[in-house]
Amino acid sequence: MLKATHQLITQAAKDLHLSEQELAGLLRVDAAHEFEILLENGKKFSGFRMQHNNARGPYKGGIRFHPEVDFDEVQALATLMSLKTALVDIPMGGGKGGVVVDPKDLTERELEELARGYVRQLETHIGPDKDVPAPDINTNPKIIDWMVDEYALLTGDMTQASFTGKSVAKGGSIGRDAATGRGGLYTLEAILHLQGNPTDKLRFCVQGFGNVGAFFAQLVLERFPSWKLVGVSDSSGALYSDDGLDCAKLIDYKASGKRFVEYDLVGVSHITPEKLISAEVDVLALAALGGVIVPANQSSVRASMIIELANGPVATEVLDDLRSRGVEVIPDILANAGGVIVSYFEWLQNRDGSSWAESEVNSRLYDVITSASKKVYEQSAQDHSSLKQAAIIVAVKRLVEANNSRQI
Ligand code: NAD
Repeated sequence: MLKATHQLITQAAKDLHLSEQELAGLLRVDAAHEFEILLENGKKFSGFRMQHNNARGPYKGGIRFHPEVDFDEVQALATLMSLKTALVDIPMGGGKGGVVVDPKDLTERELEELARGYVRQLETHIGPDKDVPAPDINTNPKIIDWMVDEYALLTGDMTQASFTGKSVAKGGSIGRDAATGRGGLYTLEAILHLQGNPTDKLRFCVQGFGNVGAFFAQLVLERFPSWKLVGVSDSSGALYSDDGLDCAKLIDYKASGKRFVEYDLVGVSHITPEKLISAEVDVLALAALGGVIVPANQSSVRASMIIELANGPVATEVLDDLRSRGVEVIPDILANAGGVIVSYFEWLQNRDGSSWAESEVNSRLYDVITSASKKVYEQSAQDHSSLKQAAIIVAVKRLVEANNSRQI
């Protein structure tokens, strides 16, 4: 992932005729923090916080708790965060963190100790004006609430603006839970509109029916009741119905903790995960994980459009092939930016002690992400390039401008 991210930036730097020094400034990480967190019972865990770039504002990005967290991946994700915040033009930079742990192996008490220990290791490097972490894989509002509390105990900071993704009771923003799926809907709608594509009666599939994928499907169908959700998947299996799946039923089913492999309803077929990727649909939404469409399976994609709701689900090396076959890819740094945009709104609300209504959060999200979508579309039309290349160009231009001004 790090190599692919660096390749994208390097290509954009070439296209923009940036100097070697400017390119180096884009690839460089401002600070890399690596440490151990020791629990009272002697268990030890490796932790990271990568601060890629703060030329446009405080570092911003999630903390994941996962056994496969590694230094390079965290660096790539921190770099993508700098691109994402620059692309949607919010005054934040890019960071990412992680702990090498499977939270399922911890008791609740150990998990809290780990969360608080993570903050103690980073106390002097984070804060509302320095670095504002958020939840990511296997971290959630409860864990973030512990982290905010620990930060307040250590520093006396009572703004709650040190982290975003908190529970609403502890200063979180209304609308944050649906924000990434909602941002995906707004982006898709903007791009279809700008391209002059009809928006009636489209058929779509969603790979990864978790937080992002399920909100995306639900909100798409609320906005476009004539569309059909024909396929969905989770890590256990995939479901298909040519007549359209009942999204509300699927959401209730997943909320009951069951997996799609066990789903049993007349008119709904079980298909292989590969079949979902190759379904003949207008839009394929990828909301599970990275590296899904790769050289080995790219030729089987029959959707006209892919929306990257996860980070990097379409491998960089297949983008040209997909484009030559007329498959448009709406890039991750645009399509899934709704989460960081509403995180920024949360930080703003905490800083001035306000609390916005959901309608205000959603309408501001609409404005920010629709404007970024328009910018990306115009750049791609001007350069005759893909939306992905255009998004990176817009983001890199803003980042290099900020880097150059901080060197003075
Ligand atoms: P989640 O854990 O709620 O959902 C992920 C879903 O993907 C689950 O239903 C899981 O079963 C499914 N899945 C896992 N492996 C799969 C596979 N091989 N095939 C099909 N389905 C599979 O996570 P989420 O918060 O919805 O995030 C989804 C993706 O979006 C992640 O890659 C995340 O990094 C990215 N993302 C999330 C946010 C956010 O705000 N939550 C923001 C930006 C990017």
